[in-house]
Amino acid sequence: NAPLMQGKKGLVMGVANDRSIAWGIAKAAADHGATLGFTYQGDALEKRVRPLAESVNAPLVLSCDVTNADSMDAVFAEVEKTWGKLDFLVHAIAFSDKDELKGQYLDTSRDNFLRTMDISCYSLTALTQRAAPLMNDGGSIVTLTYYGAERVMPHYNVMGVAKAALEASVRYLAVDLGNRGIRVNAISAGPIKTLAASGIGDFRYILKWNELNSPLKRNVTIDEVGGAGLYLLSDLGSGVTGEVHHVDCGYHTVGMVAVDAADE
Ligand code: NAD
Repeated sequence: NAPLMQGKKGLVMGVANDRSIAWGIAKAAADHGATLGFTYQGDALEKRVRPLAESVNAPLVLSCDVTNADSMDAVFAEVEKTWGKLDFLVHAIAFSDKDELKGQYLDTSRDNFLRTMDISCYSLTALTQRAAPLMNDGGSIVTLTYYGAERVMPHYNVMGVAKAALEASVRYLAVDLGNRGIRVNAISAGPIKTLAASGIGDFRYILKWNELNSPLKRNVTIDEVGGAGLYLLSDLGSGVTGEVHHVDCGYHTVGMVAVDAADE
């Protein structure tokens, strides 16, 4: 049997270091035979991303800031020049001012609202506009979201609002691109200690809460998110689009934990 991802070429956007969720997905795709390209944001992260990309023999390592249209154009021009096509895209990008990832949503500033929406939500659409024309044999696009889109989580604030819009974008893009055989899905990951997560207020408490209250009584790993990413990016997920798939040890299913279970 041929490896699941053999012949598939994909761009992974959002690796900052080896704890990044995007790296968990990249490893799973590479392990199953995919050829990968990576983007990094700024010189400081290039030093981290380049060795990771080399460890999976990625032929493309490119700079990209999603607030800059020229930077996004340059990435996809390079992908087209090198591969002539694209099979999948991983979008694992989010940003908000950490001063507004604590306290109340009520205090969100207009500037940070717009910046958070631009980087964490609109970028999926901006990148999809550029990726879709290269997905001639169909394709799969996966983004990352969080339960704070659906329910209020402490400190998640404007990022929850951006993730809600991101999840709606997934559904609209899935319909727009369905007739071209391009699927668009989101993975709603449980909390994981990453660079981005360290900006969220009381994050250690959120981790502990999920560990105590999720059905599996633990937190997820980037490798588990990688497994779900592999399913959605590969032909295993060929019938799935517009979906928000929870990889959170079941936390989103729980309304209330029984008192005796909480005491354990
Ligand atoms: P991370 O810090 O490893 O990754 C975030 C990435 O966003 C970084 O690589 C950063 O360079 C990139 N980024 C930020 N601004 C950018 C810009 N202007 N242009 C290009 N790239 C930019 O953290 P992570 O937790 O792996 O985050 C990946 C995704 O997973 C995010 O969308 C995040 O919201 C989501 N997510 C994280 C968790 C968690 O608990 N860690 C849970 C659910 C969803």
